[in-house]
Amino acid sequence: MSDIIHLLPDAVANQIAAGEVIQRPASVLKELVENAIDAGADFIQIVMKDAGRTLIQVTDNGKGMSETDARMAFERHATSKIKDAADLFSLRTMGFRGEALASIAAVAQVEMRSRREEDELGVVIEVAGTRVFRQEAIQCEKGTTFLVKNLFFNVPARRRFLKSDNVEKSHLLQEFYRIALVNSQVEFSFFDGDEEIFHLPVSNVKARIENTFGKTLKKRFQQQLLPIETSTNLVSIHGYVGKPEFAQKSANQYFFVNGRYMRHPYFHKAVMLAYNNMIQPTEGPNYFIYFEVDTQTIDINIHPTKTEIKFENEQALWSILSATVKEALGKFNIVPSIDFDQEGAPEMPVQTISLENIRPPQTSFNPNYNPFSGSSYKRPEINWEKLYGGFEGDTAGAQLVPHFEEEEVLPEPNTQQDMHHVFQQEISEFQSTNFQLKNRFVITNVKSGMLMIDQHRAHVRILFESFLQQMLVRQASTQQILFPEILELHQDDALYFEQILDDLNAAGFDFNVDDRELVHVTGVPAQLGTESVVGLLKTLIEKARTTALNSATEVSENIALALAEASSIKSGQSLTNEEMSDLINRLFACENPNYTPDGKTTMVIFSQDEIVAKFR
Ligand code: ADP
Ligand code: MG
Repeated sequence: MSDIIHLLPDAVANQIAAGEVIQRPASVLKELVENAIDAGADFIQIVMKDAGRTLIQVTDNGKGMSETDARMAFERHATSKIKDAADLFSLRTMGFRGEALASIAAVAQVEMRSRREEDELGVVIEVAGTRVFRQEAIQCEKGTTFLVKNLFFNVPARRRFLKSDNVEKSHLLQEFYRIALVNSQVEFSFFDGDEEIFHLPVSNVKARIENTFGKTLKKRFQQQLLPIETSTNLVSIHGYVGKPEFAQKSANQYFFVNGRYMRHPYFHKAVMLAYNNMIQPTEGPNYFIYFEVDTQTIDINIHPTKTEIKFENEQALWSILSATVKEALGKFNIVPSIDFDQEGAPEMPVQTISLENIRPPQTSFNPNYNPFSGSSYKRPEINWEKLYGGFEGDTAGAQLVPHFEEEEVLPEPNTQQDMHHVFQQEISEFQSTNFQLKNRFVITNVKSGMLMIDQHRAHVRILFESFLQQMLVRQASTQQILFPEILELHQDDALYFEQILDDLNAAGFDFNVDDRELVHVTGVPAQLGTESVVGLLKTLIEKARTTALNSATEVSENIALALAEASSIKSGQSLTNEEMSDLINRLFACENPNYTPDGKTTMVIFSQDEIVAKFR
């Protein structure tokens, strides 16, 4: 038999590669505008027609291209921005992969005009489906114009996947905001058809933020932005955060690093901590936070559509960020107008903010823990002194802790430390004899009386925090499956699946997504204890469909909760004494042990007085 392996024709290879880079009109906008920024433009005009389906046009006044470069630009892996792998660690440009133009040209009809300042004539090139139809010298303005017409004209399946105009437009706007907010040195003009929907003049950062979201929101932003600013040898941070009373359901929350938009759920938590108790749990503050760090200390995601960025000093930055935001809120003497318990409000003295008071969350997850391995799992060695020793001298939160003996139910803790403190007090007489009631409740002796825990709910809380933490630091351990399970996705499902894919990966899932409609599940979170992985994923996709998931946090929390539910000890399961102790220990090590993530009570304390009273 003759040999059967051959190289794919360029057109096919490019189309396959394009699937990764160009998923919708918004991806085209992003790539073209980023190229214009990289070309040093200070004026960029965008035109979209039919939500980008029929046309996306980007014109810049940047440095333009020579005729040879103009042709070369459409080749795959052709870039002027990096030369070797080492350059990846000193990136200052938005692009570096050299695959955007090749990808766009593989799935659309592209016309490009470009001229460098020093050239008398420019060049026009027309490419469609990777084939070059025209290349000639022409007269044109300095700079570059791209017209991308009829996106996915040759990939009908992709075209059918596009959503309604409104959805596609909102994706387009989102990409635009992400670029405009961090490039206030550039003037932008954005047309939807014949109507200019944005005109953003060159300005300072604050004015750019205020202008970006349109006239109606301008005023709201003018009233609420507080500057933040800090500079250390690890990082400088500047930007603006919204006053707490302007918190809203789908807040505008943006992080940028070295001029690039990024998603960073872990840093998001640092900001949220600074707002602790100042806003309703369902709302979020607006923030626009710009980091500048040494390019050597970050790892820009190699994946073309992912916006996560890894930092070398994540924990230190976390603390600096949280302190900086806290300070900004304190400095402006925010007296929130919304109704909240003043006693519960954090103290915000400007002078005393020090990094030592703020600690990033630590992972307290034991990767070997699996309640489903065998009939009775081994309790991980817990050394009390080690676990809580750190809090011994920590009396800062003590006065905030209501007197335990007087309380029937554990009060909502103000901070994690408070809870540990309470626990430490309680546990001083802790005896490790537990009792299980109706295979549902775990009962144990505590200082003030009798503690009763709902075993399922408690375990959900424990696992939720553990999954969430792993997702935040992206250190979930994955268990590979030998025979991949197949997840069939129809039409819409694939889209929603893509929306949560990043988070599923962060949670420890591994997929082979060569085929958008037949996804192979090749790995699952090591902690996951469920029989139906496919069923679980379907539930999550359904959740993504039915809830408008606005913030990154919401997505992660939904996933963490579903995984926790699926992996938790159920009601009706009998537990050994050791298992019960372990459950109690781990519950009290939680950040918020009193309730399940969806707000159900996990534990109740019956005070001794209360019990004694019953015997009168
Ligand atoms: P990358 O941006 O990763 O280098 P692209 O495929 O987006 O890859 O672009 C390829 C090359 O084409 C760029 O490296 C740049 O040299 C050139 N180029 C693209 N767009 C422009 C533009 N608007 N102005 C000047 N040069 C451009
Ligand atoms: Mg590019």
